[in-house]
Amino acid sequence: MPQGHQARKRFGQNFLVDPNIIGKIVAAIAPKPGQTVVEIGPGLGALTRPLLAACGHLHVVEIDRDLIARLHEEYTAEQMTVHEGDALKFDFGALAAEVNGPLRVVGNLPYNISTPLLFHLADAADRVQDMTFMLQKEVVQRMVGEPGEEAYGRLSVMLQYRFEMARLFDVPPGAFRPAPKVVSSIVYMRPKPIEALDCSDEKLLSRVVTAAFGQRRKTLRNTLRDIAGESDFSATQIDPGARGETLSVADYVRLTNHLAGGMT
Ligand code: SAM
Repeated sequence: MPQGHQARKRFGQNFLVDPNIIGKIVAAIAPKPGQTVVEIGPGLGALTRPLLAACGHLHVVEIDRDLIARLHEEYTAEQMTVHEGDALKFDFGALAAEVNGPLRVVGNLPYNISTPLLFHLADAADRVQDMTFMLQKEVVQRMVGEPGEEAYGRLSVMLQYRFEMARLFDVPPGAFRPAPKVVSSIVYMRPKPIEALDCSDEKLLSRVVTAAFGQRRKTLRNTLRDIAGESDFSATQIDPGARGETLSVADYVRLTNHLAGGMT
């Protein structure tokens, strides 16, 4: 194990050790002085060091007390603000308000909390400039999945509604210690401008999408039985005999707006 730390499975600890990959990730982020960069899960600092060298000050959110102690030893308060605790509970919006500017959020995310963390961050999207994450390749495929693809689902629709996203490159298991079982990918996410968010009720959108993908093999007539009727489908020109996986994000927004009583 690098630097004598015992990797903790419960915190999803797989530490980056490949200098080429580390360089590629930091080059993709390209942090600049004056930007507020927040790293989730700095761990042993593989990304932290070069990020800090590029932007001068870094905010980090880390849950592991041993790693937090190391961070305090290695970095001064001028270089780093260490937020101790669970990133799932961290108030990114409050930090953006405090620094009075948008956040650039980055991290090699703990795989065991990646989906809830993406939803948590989506709630703060209006305070975020962009996000660059390493995640399991399979999760990134779900994030960027298109209608009709196996990977297209709730995560794709809810994140694509809020963000422009691009899968940048893959990272093999050998780039980490300990090596994970799966391939990882780097994903870039940029929040869409407020004007592009045309859904009048995002909670309802989430309900519709969750129901539509709840039983993938069933038709919308079936999965949305409690939410939408034949007249709603015909008013929005959506085929009730289709499956949820064939609808685009725009289709879901149109149906939701109609159901919410807004524009169709
Ligand atoms: N950034 C380092 C690297 O690339 O080598 C470590 C990445 S490791 C995959 C994930 C990191 O997230 C670990 O440092 C772990 O302790 C931290 N972590 C796990 N769960 C967390 C949580 N809920 N909130 C904040 N950090 C967490």
